[in-house]
Parts: sequence; structure tokens; C-alpha cells
Amino acid sequence: LNLPHRKVNSICCIGAGYVGGPTCAVIAAANPHINVQIVDVNQSRIDAWNSDVLPIYEPGLAETVAKSRNRNLFFSTNVSQAIEEADLIFVSVNTPTKKSGMGRGFAADLGYVEAATRQIAKIAKSDKIVVEKSTVPCRTAQSIRLILEANSRSGVHFDILSNPEFLAEGTAIQDLMHPDRVLIGSQDTVAGFSACASLAEVYSAWVPRDKIITMNVWSSELSKLAANAMLAQRISSINALSAICEATGADVDEVAHAVGLDSRIGPKFLKSSVGFGGSCFRKDILNLVYLSESLNLPEVAAYWRQVVEMNEYQKFRFARKVLHSLFDTMSNKRIAVFGFAFKKDTGDTRESAAITLVQSFAEEMASVAIYDPKVEERQVWLELTSNDTDIEAKVKERVTICNSALEAAGGADAIVIATEWDEFKDTNLNYADVYRVMNKPAFIFDGRSILNAGVITDIGFKLHTIGKGTEG
Ligand code: NAD
Repeated sequence: LNLPHRKVNSICCIGAGYVGGPTCAVIAAANPHINVQIVDVNQSRIDAWNSDVLPIYEPGLAETVAKSRNRNLFFSTNVSQAIEEADLIFVSVNTPTKKSGMGRGFAADLGYVEAATRQIAKIAKSDKIVVEKSTVPCRTAQSIRLILEANSRSGVHFDILSNPEFLAEGTAIQDLMHPDRVLIGSQDTVAGFSACASLAEVYSAWVPRDKIITMNVWSSELSKLAANAMLAQRISSINALSAICEATGADVDEVAHAVGLDSRIGPKFLKSSVGFGGSCFRKDILNLVYLSESLNLPEVAAYWRQVVEMNEYQKFRFARKVLHSLFDTMSNKRIAVFGFAFKKDTGDTRESAAITLVQSFAEEMASVAIYDPKVEERQVWLELTSNDTDIEAKVKERVTICNSALEAAGGADAIVIATEWDEFKDTNLNYADVYRVMNKPAFIFDGRSILNAGVITDIGFKLHTIGKGTEG
């Protein structure tokens, strides 16, 4: 990192999403001398970044943006101008999964990365450091290099770095301010200047040097997929154990505590739940599955695929538990779903377990009343109605969206806690009031283990908690 390098004066970030926005806002706040332009093709998203209501909700984000916006931090749709002016370009576009029609299941859709890369090649008139911020399959840097070199002006040189992002939604600013590590993968030092050292200097404005680690670009790309796969695997492992707990009388929290005290295992990320969601875990594992298959490693692919399958199983196992407890019929019953975001402190609903639950309940002819403190109504409808037309019709007929937990619970037979928002804890919500407005027997299915069983069952509820069975 002490190699000779060029100072970065101007940064462009292509993609103003959950990663590009917060990451570059933190970079701008820590480097007031660097001009940071975050660009996107989505006009309404950019308008929101330039307004008082940011397009994403993250604790601390508004304050961070306010520090630099219109000083050295700019949001715009002028992608070409930002590329032209930048020394360093983050590619932070979406990399969703696509169903591959060629007999290989799912694959990463790199169309957005390719489009951004082609635009960089077309516009660049001076040397650029191009940084993969998006999560991409191993060896994508090679494709980026090929596209850049085949389409750019002669004499313009590109350094390609991998710098995957490890932030978690809901704690993005905290994670960016105090990262466990910043990872930079690079391949070569060209003309005596290290691009890796240039990027490291940007981060070292606030990240201690010993947390900035460097490695070859392929290891860096794979490390991001590996980290997400292993996090998801821990959740699937504890969820698999939760099913055994419910069948035997063991308590999953006690098991997790005992297991986590082993210093080789550690206590974090051992909370059983209705299943993981979010835009990354499923997608990144499917990516790893696809990569393994294309490398002709079918056993490796099968191993990782099982992590995703366990997660699907857990969601449906929970939904079936609700059905069974409601005497095997949901018709003419109302189910209040508390939370729709994939986890607390975010308005993001991508791959949220709540989607599967609500659709399953609607299919079983329940009326479903949803309340989430941060998710916009428009977003709920978008998630619930974008796949299957048959379910879509039932959803439209049977789902309502409410303005409070109490309103959702009114006349309900059951509450399903799908997101662990603090306001759903029994210390914040008056469950005695909630009980009063519900049909009896009144059930709560705590899919996030946030309730105190004693408090809830004393009120009169029948409580089902994942990995613990039914009480009350
Ligand atoms: P996002 O969908 O919120 O944002 C991506 C943005 O890129 C969109 O606003 C889209 O309009 C824009 N875009 C796409 N193509 C463009 C182009 N050619 N020019 C300009 N703008 C373009 O996605 P995200 O959640 O920010 O994720 C971005 C990447 O980071 C993904 O690869 C993801 O896997 C990875 N990642 C996400 C998280 C997370 O928690 N969301 C964490 C770590 C890594």
C-alpha cells in the first residue's frame, strides 16, 4: 500500500442504490477534498437523493449525506459527464439473478455491469481506475478488462480493482464507518503506479490501515460470495436445528447459546427465524452454485444449493404451522402480519420472508392485514403482485395494508411477526390492548423470537415461537 500511486481527486459511482449511495456518502464525508458524483439512470431515485426524503431508509444516512451534499457530493443522471471527470469509478449497479434458459438453473445477470462498463469505455478520454463494487462472480474483472480494452480510445489505460462491499442493510452507516475489513483485489501495477494504493488512500481517511487488506482480484471476488454464503449457511444450520427443537422439546435459543460459547463457532448469527431475506444471500449463493456447475463441480453446487433450499423449507414450514394451528383452515380468518421489510431498520423488501407468508395465507383464503413502520404501501403491492397471476388475484382481493399494529390486529385470529422491528417487542407494544381487539383464541406466531413468552401467554395468547414450539 506504500507503493507509488496517483492521488484520487474525483470519484464517480455508477449506481445510486443501497450500496453506492451510503458508501460514497461516507467516502465524501471523510474526504472533503475529493469530488464525489453518484450517478444513476433512474431519475426519480436521483431526485429523491437530492430531496429531504432519501430513496432508502438507513439510520444515520440522512445526516451523513447532509454533511457533503452539494459541497463535494453530487447526485445526478449525467452518467457520461461523471465518468469523464473521474479518476476512479465505482461500478455499483445491481447484479440480480436470472433464470438461465440453458439448463443451469440460476445465474448472475451481469447485463447492468456490462452496460456500465461499455459506457466507461466509450466516454473515457483519460486513464481510469475501475472498481467492481457490485457483487460479481469470480473472474468478472477479466470480462470488464476485455470490454474496456476492446472499446476504448487508444492510449487510455484502465486499472481494474475488486472492492466488494460488506455492509449490511439496517446498519450500513455503522458498518461503513467501522468496517471489519476493507478488501481490495488487484492484478497488476501499471506504469509504476499502484491503483490499489490509490483506492487504499481514499479509505485510509477513516479506516485504520491494518483493516485494509489486499489480495489478488479473483480471491477478492470469491471472498464476497464466500462471506455471504457462509453467513446464510449459519442461518440455515440454526433453522434446521429449530425444526428438531420443535419436534423434541429442546429450545433453540438454549442450543444456540451452548453452541456459540465454543470460541471456534462464536455466538453471532445463530438466531433462528422464519428465514433469511434481502437481495444478497439467495442471489450470491445461487451465483456460487452456478459458478460451481460451470466449473464442473456438481457436488460443490449441491452443497451450497441446500442452504437456499433449507431457507425455502423454513418459510413454508412456518406457514404450515400457522395453518395447522388455525385448525387447518384459514378461510374467513384474518391474519395480521407485523412487518414486511426483510429485517428491521430498513425499508427494503427484496426477498423478504413476509412475501412468501402473505402469498401463502392469501392462497389459503385468509384475509391478510399487513403493517410495517417503514415500507411504503406501493412497495408492498409491487412485491406481492409481480410473479404469479393466480396468486396475484387472490392477493388483491384479500390483502389490506394498515397504519398501525393495533389496526392490523383488529378482528384477527392470529398475528405473525415477520420482521423484528423494535416497536413489535412486548416492551414497546401494548399486547393487552392488541389481545382485546382480536378473535379468540388469539394466536401469535413469532417468526423472529422477539417476544417474552411469559408476558404474552399471561395475557391469554397462544404463542408459537420458532424453535420452541407452542406455549399458552
Ligand atoms: P440497487 O438496485 O439498490 O442499486 C443499483 C442501481 O444501479 C439502481 O438504482 C440502478 O438504476 C442503477 N443502474 C443500473 N445500471 C446502471 C447504469 N448502466 N448506469 C447508471 N445506473 C445504473 O442495488 P444495491 O442493493 O445497491 O446493490 C448493488 C450491488 O452491490 C449488487 O451487486 C449487490 O449484490 C451488491 N451488494 C448489495 C448489498 C446490499 O445490502 N444491498 C450489500 C453488499 C453488496
